[in-house]
Amino acid sequence: MNTDHLRELDRTHVWHPFTQQQGWEADEPPLIIERGEGVRLFDTDGNSYLDGVSSLWCTVHGHQREEIDQAVREQLGRVAHSTMLGLSHPGAIQLAAKLSAIAPEGLSRVFYSDSGSTAVEIALKMAFQFHAQNGQPERTQFVKMRDAYHGDTIGSVSVGGMDLFHQTYRPLLFETLEVTAGDTDALERLLEAEGPTVSAVILEPLVQGAAGMLMHDVSYLNDVRRLCDRHGILLIADEVATGFGRTGKMFACEHAGISPDLMCVAKGLTGGYLPLAATLATEEIYQGFLGAQTEYRTFFHGHTYTGNPLACAAAIANLDIFEREQTVARAQQLGVTFGDLLEQQIKPLPHVAEIRHLGMMCGIELDCCPPERRTGHLVTLAARLGGAIIRPLGDVIVLMPPLGITERELAELVQLTAAAIADASLEDAPVRLKASLASDAAGTGASATEIP
Ligand SMILES: *Cc1c(COP(=O)(O)O)cnc(C)c1O
Repeated sequence: MNTDHLRELDRTHVWHPFTQQQGWEADEPPLIIERGEGVRLFDTDGNSYLDGVSSLWCTVHGHQREEIDQAVREQLGRVAHSTMLGLSHPGAIQLAAKLSAIAPEGLSRVFYSDSGSTAVEIALKMAFQFHAQNGQPERTQFVKMRDAYHGDTIGSVSVGGMDLFHQTYRPLLFETLEVTAGDTDALERLLEAEGPTVSAVILEPLVQGAAGMLMHDVSYLNDVRRLCDRHGILLIADEVATGFGRTGKMFACEHAGISPDLMCVAKGLTGGYLPLAATLATEEIYQGFLGAQTEYRTFFHGHTYTGNPLACAAAIANLDIFEREQTVARAQQLGVTFGDLLEQQIKPLPHVAEIRHLGMMCGIELDCCPPERRTGHLVTLAARLGGAIIRPLGDVIVLMPPLGITERELAELVQLTAAAIADASLEDAPVRLKASLASDAAGTGASATEIP
């Protein structure tokens, strides 16, 4: 099927996530990705692009990593799916042991699901039920952070704090208590007042990703842990974005040397291959669900594809590469190089208000123009013409390349991004960039690197 035909069918039948469909493809024909290799993606016309956002923050070692491909193929030769409800399978068992071994101390129990959102729903329900059936039913409230993002399902939206995404659903959401990440005094005051009725505090450790890579100090994590302990409150760490080496440690909590009571992982768990998530819990929480059948202390939750064997096979292969190639140590090194490149090439640009960077996560805040100009979006169009795929959060340009990127490719990505920011800031950018993309789509323009 050729690109034009695919675009036509996309326009007729597909509804894209987080996308205003009106005008979709009017003058920015959608990129249709057909193939990936290493840190590059290829469209249906054979153009190559650096994957600057790890295919929405999940690709770890790169696309088509032979070891992961092979593991999934081998699993296909055994069984593609078998349920975890009342049955088990080798992949889920081995992966649970591996996750417990690499997780912050004390997280010995692994409950599977299939997305970051479900991992968060599960953590919330576990915390709530744990207190309900262990003598503290008055602990019904959750403390969340302003600007938090924990997923798009109703429970995870309830503990979200981004008005743009969450405001519409307000009437459907449960009440929460809100503080600003990084402000220890505010949390201390809140818990002095509300402590006995709080079930859990939930946060994205160190980096609030979807909010635009907002960062808080490591010491805040220590403070939150200490205050939770003081008030008998559970701490839920949502490591969906920060987990698996992104921040230069396997998990962001390690920077502070703390262990949460519940930890959510997803995105990078399978190396970016397949939808799989896990909620890790302490033995204490786990024990709080034990009892005779007739006591109904069971955790009544489980998705059909929970712990899917193909996804578990990919995850095990992913973690094996982490071990073999010392991926975390490498990511930490690469993160330093990344910081230098950002400092040299992005910081001096006009309109760059702030660069927020930790490990292999970065948000570049632009301040040049009114939001309706959608400069962040224009930067991604310019980057696409230059040969890189990035996706902004408003006027914050996010760079989060796969950890498997080479220094050279990283330099190329930063250089392309710098050029794209400069280009998109020019006054004629809105019209010019869209015209370039439209003429590319019509097959008349020069585009990203053509692969012969
Ligand atoms: C992406 C993300 C989620 C949601 O994960 P999905 O797999 O998209 O449901 C939750 N929390 C954080 C911190 C995330 O970045």
